[in-house]
Amino acid sequence: MTLLSTDRQAAARAFTQALRPGQRICITTHVNPDGDGLGSEAGLVHLLRAQGIEAVVTNPSPTPERYQFLFRDLPGVDRTHEAVKELRRADLILVLDISDVGRLGMLSQTVLERGVPVACVDHHVSQGHLPDGPRYVDPEASATGELIYQLAVASNWPLTPLAARALYVAILTDTGAFRFSNTRPAVLRTAAALLETGLDPEQIYLDVYASSSEGRARLLAETLQTLVVEPEFGLAWVTVPPGALERLGATADDLDGIVEVPRSISGVRMALLFREIAAGRVKVSLRSVGTVDVAEFARPYGGGGHTKASGLSMEGSLAHVQHEVLAAAREYLSANGNGQGL
Ligand code: 5GP
Ligand code: MN
Repeated sequence: MTLLSTDRQAAARAFTQALRPGQRICITTHVNPDGDGLGSEAGLVHLLRAQGIEAVVTNPSPTPERYQFLFRDLPGVDRTHEAVKELRRADLILVLDISDVGRLGMLSQTVLERGVPVACVDHHVSQGHLPDGPRYVDPEASATGELIYQLAVASNWPLTPLAARALYVAILTDTGAFRFSNTRPAVLRTAAALLETGLDPEQIYLDVYASSSEGRARLLAETLQTLVVEPEFGLAWVTVPPGALERLGATADDLDGIVEVPRSISGVRMALLFREIAAGRVKVSLRSVGTVDVAEFARPYGGGGHTKASGLSMEGSLAHVQHEVLAAAREYLSANGNGQGL
């Protein structure tokens, strides 16, 4: 069991006391939801259900196929296809894994207009604006799923195996399968407590990481072909060939993990992945090694995330965005020391 300070326990209890039976609760997370967003949602729905509280999931983008197993035991709960309609009737909106209404994509306006409390559980260092409501935020946490676990422990909510599996997926995916710097001792203690409910870690691994489409493998191959490395700056980047996702029948979720390849090259301190998300709009995923802070780097572009994993999106052609961001990256890396932290 995770030991929380008295302050955090009190904060957790204040948060969970805002969740009561009979409310219409909508749970949502960021565009292109990942294992942490979806695992936290499914875990929380299981935990609340055991307390007699019902909630539905209303996300701005559909659940990727590889995470659909999380909702198989929750029929009718993923209402993403009718998100706007559900949110317009909500008494309480719960936003997970982001603190910025802008990251809710096409649901931002609906959430802002609804005028009901917006509760939030998040672990990002860069926080934006959200309507008022209870907050349970800790940038030190490895994953939002870890914070949901803390809420459960502080409120004496029993942990069912299905809730535990969902939270395990959240922590597994946001720690890069327990490899990243956020894999603190407490994270492994939490993972152990989750496994002790009787989970099968190999089955979870197979569901999350070994159920890819052929398209994902081909997308990986084509994207890695574009690799450019600049050892003098500690910089490496890859670019998704325009149209590749559609041509290969792949989705945005299939890009997950590709940026780890340029990051894994010896001497690289900043790795980037560029992708055109619409005509004239480009998304950049950033990862760092050592002391480079990619959340700080992304901030002037309206992006953010974590110190070692961030993202931003920008107007402009692929060539223009690459030119601008790479020039800034070279400057940033030159100003922030060479070879530090390697
Ligand atoms: P990814 O590159 O895997 O999409 O995202 C890495 C991290 O950066 C995640 O924590 C994600 O929430 C954050 N992130 C990704 N894209 C954006 C963005 O456009 N704006 C902000 N503020 N954060 C982002
Ligand atoms: Mn997360």
